[in-house]
Amino acid sequence: VDKNSQRLTIAIQKSGRLSKESIALLEACGFKFSLHEARLLAHSSNQPVDLLRVRDDDIPGLVMDGVVDLGLVGENVLEEARLERQATQLPAKINILRALDFGQCRLSIAVPKEDNYRGLADLEGKRIATTYPFLLQNYLQQQGIKASTAVLTGSVEVAPRAGLADAICDLVSTGATLEANGLVEKEVIFRSTAQLIQRPEPLTAAKQAIVDQLLPRLDGVQMARESKYIMLHAPKARLEEVVALLPGAERPTVLPLQHSDEQVAVHVVSTEKLFWETMEELKAIGCSSILVLPIEKMLG
Ligand code: ATP
Ligand code: MG
Repeated sequence: VDKNSQRLTIAIQKSGRLSKESIALLEACGFKFSLHEARLLAHSSNQPVDLLRVRDDDIPGLVMDGVVDLGLVGENVLEEARLERQATQLPAKINILRALDFGQCRLSIAVPKEDNYRGLADLEGKRIATTYPFLLQNYLQQQGIKASTAVLTGSVEVAPRAGLADAICDLVSTGATLEANGLVEKEVIFRSTAQLIQRPEPLTAAKQAIVDQLLPRLDGVQMARESKYIMLHAPKARLEEVVALLPGAERPTVLPLQHSDEQVAVHVVSTEKLFWETMEELKAIGCSSILVLPIEKMLG
């Protein structure tokens, strides 16, 4: 990658849990990419932007060293790299631009289900298998517990049965993998989502201009995902109650309905996810024709 290039370079995970949503997010922000499975680098066809597709573990270092300008990576991987680089005197500065709304997971300590675990103190002097030795030791130190770590880059969950460790510290989303391996989650040590990060040194003006355009678009995409456009018919007399049921609703648009004096049409943008319960409550106070529509984009 040419550091002096006028093209903004963004590192994303090549294949894994963050890949699809990373590309989808950038595309929703207006960047077009043609991706070839085998290629490391993908050029945008409509912006001076390149994607570098790598293993997620490499992304924090590439950004901290300024080899690429931006990166999309899990906070877990970012924090682990930051702690590791601090410990080894490597540059560890980074700008976190945005926390994103995907890649949710947690890093947890789990123990064999037959263990009579009562609390963290039970881990004193034990060995814990993990892919995140720095996050784990950081946590244990804060809690005043001394335990050793066995670093495994994969299949952490089989370590206790294989006699390699007494407990594990691994990413959990549903808990199904733990369950299948006879483990029970006991302590959540870190909660993570994907993050948009930027290298510490200032960008060239041309690159900064692209980032300045990207961020409001990204906020618009994320805000739209959290919001719904709601249309319904409501009794004029109960408008206040209707709006109260729709949290985050801005001032609603109220339109007259033909051939009706008691009923009006109401249009609102709401951050409420609109569960069936809310719709039933709306119906109970006399609303009808309730429509909930997804929003694709939003701008101030
Ligand atoms: P790579 O080959 O790039 O090193 P990997 O196997 O290390 O991939 P993945 O399993 O694809 O990593 O997970 C990538 C990141 O996705 C994790 O570090 C975490 O931030 C996030 N993640 C983990 N589990 C989930 C999940 N169940 N749902 C969404 N995101 C997750
Ligand atoms: Mg990885």
